[in-house]
Amino acid sequence: MKIRSVDIYILDIPTVRPHQLAMHTIVEQSIVVARVTEEAGLEGWAEVATIGGASYGEGTPEAIKANIDQYITPHLIGKNPKHFSKIMFEVSSAVRGNHFAKAVVEAAMIDLAAKGKEVPAYELLGGKIHDSLPLAWTLASGDTGKDIEEAKEFLQQKRHKIFKLKIGKGDPYKNVDHVLKIIAAVGDQARVTVDVNQAWDETTANYCIEALQEGGVSMVEQPLPTWNYEGMARLTERFKVPIMADESANSVHEVYQIAKHRSGNCIALKPCKHGGLLETKKVAAIAEGAGFGLYGGTMIESSLGTAVCASVYATIPAFEFGTELFGPMLFKDQITVNEVKFENYEIVIPDGPGFGMEIDIDKVKHYSRNC
Ligand SMILES: [Mg+2]
Repeated sequence: MKIRSVDIYILDIPTVRPHQLAMHTIVEQSIVVARVTEEAGLEGWAEVATIGGASYGEGTPEAIKANIDQYITPHLIGKNPKHFSKIMFEVSSAVRGNHFAKAVVEAAMIDLAAKGKEVPAYELLGGKIHDSLPLAWTLASGDTGKDIEEAKEFLQQKRHKIFKLKIGKGDPYKNVDHVLKIIAAVGDQARVTVDVNQAWDETTANYCIEALQEGGVSMVEQPLPTWNYEGMARLTERFKVPIMADESANSVHEVYQIAKHRSGNCIALKPCKHGGLLETKKVAAIAEGAGFGLYGGTMIESSLGTAVCASVYATIPAFEFGTELFGPMLFKDQITVNEVKFENYEIVIPDGPGFGMEIDIDKVKHYSRNC
């Protein structure tokens, strides 16, 4: 089995409602899809998502595609995808950073290698520990009444009983009030966490986290900017409520520093920001060694990218904070023939060959800028 071609597509898919974060409101989500084809025509597919161009992180869809085409693809052509670990070692020796780009090509090779062996991708990652994982939902409509309505509806449907609130945009104190109203409405049936997406300074964080802790919030995600490791350490020391590192926890080296200095005491995993599925497992191991809780994060991938994340999360022992792999529910349409299954408050780990998803090529063409 030798890789013949690597094709990278950028797709823009509308969402079912606006999704408001501190730095951007998503109404159309941009994803990058990789297709790796071997000589006999068997294809491996994978996806990474980005949020708001360059507003969330450095990895824009356009840069991901350009850097794969120019600098990463030459390292894949003619190679056996079953050797994805060695190939990624070679890629990492030649290409710095570019975690999203590395993640999507590595995952596409794993999909292809697993399909070649007719096994699920998680079998190539040590095998699954979980058949399903708890699934949080993000209440981010921007309106307290609508969020409460949405939370009650999903509790009734047994879809979610962990709710994360995006509170980085607007007045911090009004946002705290918004959180406390939601806890008052559904807090007896659900766990409520918050994600600040780096929006506060340390003084604001000190006031707001005190009120949130008092009000019963069960985790505070990335309250301070990525650079403020010392501030994150002071908050972790001061408060009982867990402080999660997300945007500040990318490479294994960053996560090691967070663990060493306790700049947070739990970590949000995301294969794209760590640079692939193998790197995600390394990050999880550092967190486990530090006694940190884990959260299975999302960049809001569609069904394909969600299956990629679910396949590696299934091989990791414990997710104290559950996962947020709700991406497919936020998209108006999907690029796979089959769907990721959600039942009884959990995401079901896909079981078919590779990542278990069958690509709908017409949908890929329909939403792609370049296919
Ligand atoms: Mg986050």
